[in-house]
Amino acid sequence: MSKIVRGISFLTVSRPDIYDYLRCPKIVSIKVYKNTRTPKPERVAVRKSESKTALIGKIGEAATQLAFSPELESGKLASLGEEIVTGSISSKGGPVEGLRGTILRSLSAQIHQLPKSLELDMKNVVRETFEGLDEITRDVKDAYGNVTVIGKGESRYETLPTMGYPDFVALTNGKPVLIEVKNTVRENSKLDGFQASFYNSLAKTVGVVIQDMAIDDGVLETRPRMVLERDANALIVYPRLKTWKSVTDTVDLGPRVVKDVWRAKQLGLLGKSPRTKCSSDCPHHKFDIELPEGNMEIAKPLPLILAKGSVDLGVDFDYEYLENYLWRVAPSLSTALSEMRFGRDTVPETQRKKLRGMLQDKFDLDESTVRRLVPKTGHAKDEPYPSYKEILREEASEIEPWEKLLPRKILRSASQTAQGRATRLYRLPKESSRVIRKTWKKW
Ligand SMILES: [Zn+2]
Repeated sequence: MSKIVRGISFLTVSRPDIYDYLRCPKIVSIKVYKNTRTPKPERVAVRKSESKTALIGKIGEAATQLAFSPELESGKLASLGEEIVTGSISSKGGPVEGLRGTILRSLSAQIHQLPKSLELDMKNVVRETFEGLDEITRDVKDAYGNVTVIGKGESRYETLPTMGYPDFVALTNGKPVLIEVKNTVRENSKLDGFQASFYNSLAKTVGVVIQDMAIDDGVLETRPRMVLERDANALIVYPRLKTWKSVTDTVDLGPRVVKDVWRAKQLGLLGKSPRTKCSSDCPHHKFDIELPEGNMEIAKPLPLILAKGSVDLGVDFDYEYLENYLWRVAPSLSTALSEMRFGRDTVPETQRKKLRGMLQDKFDLDESTVRRLVPKTGHAKDEPYPSYKEILREEASEIEPWEKLLPRKILRSASQTAQGRATRLYRLPKESSRVIRKTWKKW
């Protein structure tokens, strides 16, 4: 068996892994085997056609966001599309309001910078997309009533150390709907449908985390929100095909399936594959690699091990989420906060009180969190943070199975990547440690 030369594909169970698994579990093992035995391909410069595809996708997303924004009357999209094409973004009714203006101007600028031939192509795409969405929104409103995009979606699923990223989360009658935009001229019903079902399953099981951008009564909101444990279903919107569909199917993402996928991946590391009863035309044969069958006890996902280790050593992921969030949306506020905590006695109590009130109002924080952000005096000490080594020591017995699976050097770099992943996955607006502990039990 050839040696493992890189190890990237086993940090998580991803959507493509599940897709492969449902075709045949052996495909999962074969792919891991292949990927870990071939050196990383050199980076190829982004080709023109790829950036074109990306721009078409962007046009679709922008148009969809506008189509389902609260202030836009229906039937107005085609004319917005025309404004982008001609580069004359109108500002009737006062200056073009924040979000809409930003979206229109940025698209228009991007398109007008393109080489002439491409520019013409893209202008047609804009027209098709915006016209298509006029029809689609009318239809969707008939079916659902008002649908309002409230943010970028991000769902997390407990057993799966992975995130789902539907394009948008919208609300209709208080219920979340996930919206996925496909701005292609062809439907790939098998793959698109699978993707939507996958998001559905994530949303049904753990709920939807809504990222920063959020609109409430037409006003941009600044606080992170999380809609937990509520059903959502997914709409796939095809603007240029003037069509859409609702996907209510889910994929079985129960712990048994997830662990099976995980086992298939780890077997792939060992150059083995799970036992299956494949027919002679099973798609796994196409890979021209037949791995011997085997079985094994699985090692838990590295990001989960590291997240649990951090929580056990006292890391507060909720608070970290908040700090990080404040840095992103209000850097100057964060600088002020750091002055409050570490700047000794330069800031008087009256100012501290004012800031606390503002934080409570604007970010909907509770009293104890606000006190932590703005303490009585500026003599705070940096909170001790466990080092990466300490976390590994804390979780030594869980890391051990990995030591048998991966060469030392690769495990070290994988753990570092996994730690970054752990923060991204488990740092939630609230109840991070509950989610981590609940997940732990399922493994
Ligand atoms: Zn097979």
